[in-house]
Amino acid sequence: MNGGVSSSLSHSQKEGVEKDSERSRREEIHRERERMASKGDNVAVCNMKLERLLSMKGGKGQDSYANNSQAQAMHARSMLHLLEETLDNVHLNSSASPPPFTAVDLGCSSGANTVHIIDFIVKHISKRFDSAGIDPPEFTAFFADLPSNDFNTLFQLLPPLVSNSCMEECLAADGNRSYFVAGVPGSFYRRLFPARTIDFFHSAFSLHWLSQVPESVTDRRSAAYNRGRVFIHGAGEKTTTAYKRQFQADLAEFLRARAAEVKRGGAMFLVCLGRTSLDPTDQGGAGLLFGTHFQDAWDDLVREGLVAAEKRDGFNIPVYAPSLQDFKEVVEANGSFAIEKLVVYKGGSPLVVSEPDDASEVGRAFASSCRSVAGVLVEAHIGEELSNELFSRVERRATSHAKDVLVNLQFFHIVASLSFT
Ligand code: SAH
Repeated sequence: MNGGVSSSLSHSQKEGVEKDSERSRREEIHRERERMASKGDNVAVCNMKLERLLSMKGGKGQDSYANNSQAQAMHARSMLHLLEETLDNVHLNSSASPPPFTAVDLGCSSGANTVHIIDFIVKHISKRFDSAGIDPPEFTAFFADLPSNDFNTLFQLLPPLVSNSCMEECLAADGNRSYFVAGVPGSFYRRLFPARTIDFFHSAFSLHWLSQVPESVTDRRSAAYNRGRVFIHGAGEKTTTAYKRQFQADLAEFLRARAAEVKRGGAMFLVCLGRTSLDPTDQGGAGLLFGTHFQDAWDDLVREGLVAAEKRDGFNIPVYAPSLQDFKEVVEANGSFAIEKLVVYKGGSPLVVSEPDDASEVGRAFASSCRSVAGVLVEAHIGEELSNELFSRVERRATSHAKDVLVNLQFFHIVASLSFT
């Protein structure tokens, strides 16, 4: 780009300019390195905004979310009666030419679960229109997630759209899609849709992801610094309080955004990891997933000299499993939604194994499950090679505790059915 400037200079002057620019480029790189080093090189959760980075593992490989979300599918299936109840609360527009019925899945990720859920929602609402003797409107579904989500894999899972002419007859037919779709990249902690345009919001297994690790938790001078740990399970009170505050502030933003977007008479069905204990240092199933073998594997890397202790301490899983009370306080303070139902629901194990007595299968399932949700963050923090080292240790440790993993790793979910009047 500086060719125009240097073209009128003599050869030696040109050389001088190039040397100067080369020197300043090197100085710039040096300054950048120093800046990174001074921040503990913690690219994943400090320097880079989490929302630009976070995603479940894309594609269809062994550790992909698409391949490790059968348990979530089973948990979602066991809650369909609660989803139905919420759908029954949605107002049906009976005007002569109604706008499309619009449903959104927030935190859709890149597996088949979201497609099944949207399909279920469209069919249920369509049936309600039929039973009420009203011609069903057209349907639009938005699949929303952070920009790094593997939307391509998701779009490839969508069944083909039926042609307009047979839209109504085909609504009941399996293997076809009777709704228009679009992918929406962005954080659900901010506005994603125009005001009063959405009839129904669905979100499953996503709201326990924080918008960021609270800054104090990675600040060495802070009392909330999470020394020696990569999650809040069993952490100090100051650390867990910082997480709880972050969760409640995030949920408040979520509700504020949705309250602007939902139509009057619309509703929301929200499911996220939760805990039964009042004590936030006991994170239940999430605590066992990220606070035991995963934690021990990080400690192995530190002991073996592969990762510096501070590097480990700079990594924190940005997940908080709330209690019912944590959740309720925020919905009530927001005041825009009526609580139709708010319960803690036992989902079960996040692992699907064909041979429960095969310890190595259990260990592999544990490590894959952990990697499918946290692998992208780990790789951003320590790179792919060390990440392979870490997850092979997770697998080894989980294999040697297979029985305990199968029995005790149980997820509870907060289920909220909210309506907007
Ligand atoms: N609902 C799916 C996937 C759950 S995985 C299922 O039932 O299987 C959780 C998803 O939440 C991930 O894809 C993650 O990227 C997304 N997520 C986390 N934080 C988010 C945010 N702030 N905004 C939008 N999506 C988010």
